[in-house]
Amino acid sequence: MSIDIKQDTLFDAIIVGGSFTGLSAALVLGRSMRNVLVIDAGDPCNRRVHHANNFLTQDRKTPKQILKKARKDLAKYETVKIMLAYVMECEKVATGFQVKIHSGEVYKSKKILFATGVLDLLPDVKGFAKCWGRSILHCVYCHGYEVRNEEAGIVGDGPSVLDTIKTISHWSTKITVFTHGPTVLTEKEKAIVKAQNIEIVEKEIVAFEHKKGMLTNLLFKDDSKFMVSTIYAKVHSKQHCELPVQMGVEMTEQGNIKVDLYNRTSIHGLFAAGDNTSTYRTISSSVSAGTKAGMFVNGEIIDEEHALLLKNITN
Ligand SMILES: Cc1cc2nc3c(=O)[nH]c(=O)nc-3n(C[C@H](O)[C@H](O)[C@H](O)COP(=O)(O)OP(=O)(O)OC[C@H]3O[C@@H](n4cnc5c(N)ncnc54)[C@H](O)[C@@H]3O)c2cc1C
Repeated sequence: MSIDIKQDTLFDAIIVGGSFTGLSAALVLGRSMRNVLVIDAGDPCNRRVHHANNFLTQDRKTPKQILKKARKDLAKYETVKIMLAYVMECEKVATGFQVKIHSGEVYKSKKILFATGVLDLLPDVKGFAKCWGRSILHCVYCHGYEVRNEEAGIVGDGPSVLDTIKTISHWSTKITVFTHGPTVLTEKEKAIVKAQNIEIVEKEIVAFEHKKGMLTNLLFKDDSKFMVSTIYAKVHSKQHCELPVQMGVEMTEQGNIKVDLYNRTSIHGLFAAGDNTSTYRTISSSVSAGTKAGMFVNGEIIDEEHALLLKNITN
């Protein structure tokens, strides 16, 4: 995407991240006649999935199809510019904010919205990354229906696995738990799991064997294998973009950017929305968060313009 933008333009808002959250905010701001620059590195967290589910009217479309349609909708708003680039630096300046992209150009705006999502930290076990989002699933609501009434595995350990079993049992006929080494479950917890006819396999996994991301077997350290085509696994994640943290925004204990009801962070004029602020990660909630953030970015500009007007009247 190459667009011609003068570097001395003062945008009303720059949106870093042009996926579900960022483009939703851009739509609101475009409809508010704001000059907006969306800068997106093109690497959303769900890029590997075959289908994105649970988003009304777009169920089972690929993330690429949904985002392509979103960019097409936005093309109607001439004050919205979308650029494929990586934001390397961001600083607060007298007029608002200034960002520098990987190729060195600098852009300025009154307000800035970080819609940069999170980065899932996948375990370094052979095959895991290739299967992530395809046959290793993070969310039963997003992908459980497609494998309903089939057998599934859960990779995990500790008391939280009991909760996962309870939920996944609603979708899957037979469950096996893989603790990837000796379990930390207590004897009582183990008894609860076994009473549900669920086997606990405590062997260390050395590979998730697959064909094009579709799981075939788990391979263990002792060379034995377990045939399974669906695994549920929870992974840790971190901020995809560290710039808000480097700028000193307040964070939550869970590692999300702390925002108020209006998506404002602890830095005036800097907003955040979507996965980077929430542990409930779905496309529809990201779209909703982006819409809300767009409204409050515009609202803050209106308030400031109005305050200036009042000041000029009263002086
Ligand atoms: C494997 C997987 C499958 C999923 N499946 C579903 C599903 O079926 N249904 C559903 O509802 N939800 C699903 N989700 C959740 C959903 O994908 C997320 O909630 C949603 O993508 C979050 O949107 P976002 O815009 O906040 O972040 P993201 O979609 O992650 O987008 C963030 C964007 O910011 C960009 N960015 C980051 N840093 C910078 C920077 N410095 N400069 C420029 N750009 C930057 C990234 O490149 C990316 O394009 C899934 C998630 C995962 C991980």
